[in-house]
Amino acid sequence: MMGLMQQQPLLISSLIDFAARFHGDTEIVSRRVEGDRHRTTWAKVQRRSMRLARGLDAWGVQRGERVGTLAWNGYRHLELYYGVSGSGRVLHTINPRLHPEQIAWIVNHAEDQVVAFELSFVPIIQAIAAKCPGVRKWVALCEPGALPGDALGEVAGLVGYEEWLAAQSEQPYAWPVLDENEASSICYTSGTTGHPKGVLYSHRSTLLHAAAGALPDVMCLSAADSVLPVVPMFHVNAWGTPYAAAMVGCKLVLPGPALDGASLFEIMDDEGVTLSAGVPTVWLGLLAKIRQEGRRPLSLARVLIGGSAAPQAMIESFQDEWGVEVRHAWGMTEMSPLGTAAAFKFKHQALAPQQRMHLQTSQGRPLFGVDMRVVGADGAELPWDGRAVGELEVRGPWVLADYYRSGLPNPLHDGWFPTGDVVSIDADGFMRIVDRSKDVIKSGGEWISSIDIENVAMAHPAVAMAACVAVPHPKWDERPLLVVVKKPGAQVESRDLLTFYEGKVAKWWIPDDVMFVDAIPLGATGKILKTRLREQLLGSAGQS
Ligand code: ADP
Repeated sequence: MMGLMQQQPLLISSLIDFAARFHGDTEIVSRRVEGDRHRTTWAKVQRRSMRLARGLDAWGVQRGERVGTLAWNGYRHLELYYGVSGSGRVLHTINPRLHPEQIAWIVNHAEDQVVAFELSFVPIIQAIAAKCPGVRKWVALCEPGALPGDALGEVAGLVGYEEWLAAQSEQPYAWPVLDENEASSICYTSGTTGHPKGVLYSHRSTLLHAAAGALPDVMCLSAADSVLPVVPMFHVNAWGTPYAAAMVGCKLVLPGPALDGASLFEIMDDEGVTLSAGVPTVWLGLLAKIRQEGRRPLSLARVLIGGSAAPQAMIESFQDEWGVEVRHAWGMTEMSPLGTAAAFKFKHQALAPQQRMHLQTSQGRPLFGVDMRVVGADGAELPWDGRAVGELEVRGPWVLADYYRSGLPNPLHDGWFPTGDVVSIDADGFMRIVDRSKDVIKSGGEWISSIDIENVAMAHPAVAMAACVAVPHPKWDERPLLVVVKKPGAQVESRDLLTFYEGKVAKWWIPDDVMFVDAIPLGATGKILKTRLREQLLGSAGQS
């Protein structure tokens, strides 16, 4: 027997309509490329995204065709999120930190019809425009009259965003009633090896993911929050925050290109930010500013840390020193991206602080909708005992079924997506990442977790950033080498750091050597780029 409830597809347009209708005057505050701060509301974002949809109609961009963006977190990018997907086109957020060659490849692979870009990215457009003949319109996201005509004189189809919107009718736009399984956006993985691969999200996957991400055990989002996603809107849809924010009707604070500690502190303070989300490298900057000020941004209550492992020292600093609750989360582009979050269960309230910290440093347990298992080298499932280590596999309604036109075999294994993360899972379902399979260190046939080694180093007062990589060893195959960036003015010797490990990890896990460097290479999403680091070091490893 079928239920007798109304059939309404889960569509991205319904998010912006809801936010405009019930939270119309709630603010969206953006720091712009020009440096000033811009204020709008959910109601205005809805109206302008409707104009944008009409503008795409006028250009004949078809349902399902792709519209690329090269933009920071800001209100115009938000309008593109809703105007493009809401009208049935597919939003293709492009990571501007990739090499221009790779960007051109991605734009062509996605067959973008339109690319909207901020003025910071004019050099990218100069480099790629001639290589992307399929793009019909290049839309500059700038003030009226600020079109970079001089720099981009050669580029055909150059249009100013504000002029384009201004030319469209003000009348409400009837969003099309789409099949909820139609594509809504596409994001390419960073592709450290081979070409980037496209992950094509649907309206349904996006809405279910946003609802689950807003739950108390994940972001705990409500209309009473002011949320600042530091995680970029060009990387996995800023972990779904632009959608989840509309779903709950909260205030959204968008930091533009200013992601340094001082700028984040200032805008958090001014805009009453209660929750923020980003990768660990971002929090290093904010924590340094907090220490300098001797206080946290006034209303900051929670931070969501993910993308790379949150070091214990960082969690302790936020929570114990500054009273900001940390939620450690794990996910990946192929999972929209949220998979797990480290939130306590009722029974954990009674645990000793050390045991609670142990849970918080894990990557956490699945959100409703995500199922996971850990498999050994033979593909057989391993027990959830917190000790057995194997590859994590996942499935669920916002997990990838296949890459977009990759030409590669389907990646699924019996319907499960293999994550490439090497993990253990405990009896309560808390997952702990030992490493990415490509970063794991194999010494004498046993695994050493580079994440654990880095966590210990990060707890040393002289260490600003640490990375642990494998270097070849004649007897043990591989041994860990610790690479460290010191805090400004800090004095520390290799042997001090190595002694610091004693009693904290198994003796044979202690790195063989420490190398001090000025900077550790970061990838396009702010994560340590171990492939590049290994390339840089292999010539000189062991000589420090
Ligand atoms: P890329 O690194 O190629 O940009 P993603 O952004 O999708 O791809 O990264 C996903 C990977 O990031 C995961 O498979 C995992 O290895 C790592 N990761 C994400 N969150 C965490 C976390 N909290 N702790 C450790 N690793 C994490």
